[in-house]
Amino acid sequence: MKKIILLTLTLLCSKVYSQTFEVVPLGVYGGDHEDNLSSYLIGKYKANAYLALDAGTINAGIRKAITFKTFEVPAGRVLRDYIKGYFISHGHLDHLAGMIINSPSDTAKNIYATAAMIDVLKAHYFINDTWANFANEGDLPIRKYQYKRLKIGQIDTVTNTGMTIQAFDLSHVNPKKSSAVLVTIGDSSIVYLGDTGADRVEKVTNLENLWQSIAPIIKSRRLKALMIEVSFPNAQPEKLLFGHLTPLLLNEELGKLATFTGRDMLQGLNVIVTHMKPVSDNVDTIKRQLLENNSYKVNFIFPEQGKRMVF
Ligand SMILES: [Zn+2]
Ligand SMILES: [Zn+2]
Repeated sequence: MKKIILLTLTLLCSKVYSQTFEVVPLGVYGGDHEDNLSSYLIGKYKANAYLALDAGTINAGIRKAITFKTFEVPAGRVLRDYIKGYFISHGHLDHLAGMIINSPSDTAKNIYATAAMIDVLKAHYFINDTWANFANEGDLPIRKYQYKRLKIGQIDTVTNTGMTIQAFDLSHVNPKKSSAVLVTIGDSSIVYLGDTGADRVEKVTNLENLWQSIAPIIKSRRLKALMIEVSFPNAQPEKLLFGHLTPLLLNEELGKLATFTGRDMLQGLNVIVTHMKPVSDNVDTIKRQLLENNSYKVNFIFPEQGKRMVF
């Protein structure tokens, strides 16, 4: 009996200690619901120091987040003190509108993005015609935000978080329009993809390059989750995908990933499905189509706004 209790305690403890990351979805959809658009806070477990992976919805998501409500943390404090920086995958509004609109109440922090993405912010968003220029470059800069240009493949530190990031190009109609980021704490990682089409449809090898790069991390069981979009159900014609994935195309890409990792290594891998477009019954259809045809036996996770996940 004593042995059983000891074993249970050891198992419980090892489970607690194996928790590395927490992910708080501030917004999960890829359109329509302006109070629930792509943004995921990622940070070291219980450190209250996050990088926002995209920033479609910020304030509305913080106010709904159970984890902050439970500890009665005011939304303003999460914005100002807990979020240490932003990673913006690409220039579409559903990935950055929350950052822009909350910038007057925000504190100084870094915006991490590819050079191409920072050009978009400089040209279209942090300009004085559309809002005030809260960044550190361009016309009459307020210098609250510092642009940090990520070189593809290079490992960079995320200030005040204990995390590093590494960026990859993704094709989203244009071959370099979007990007992914590998977030690492110690020897554990989570990879987050901005909007992306499938290589075959986009006529590129961007995803293949990413799969090849992260395969060793999967093979050594150090990838805690893969966060990837599925915007449309299978019925969406390929010529009307506009640089997005369907359940079938995600399977096609997982198949390519399996060629680098071996099929068995994908079994049970946490795949967090982001960016569904919540039009008519699309969300239910996408979920059903993924679960009914889960060829690689991955663990599909459908994130909910404000519900923290721990990995
Ligand atoms: Zn989007
Ligand atoms: Zn997009």
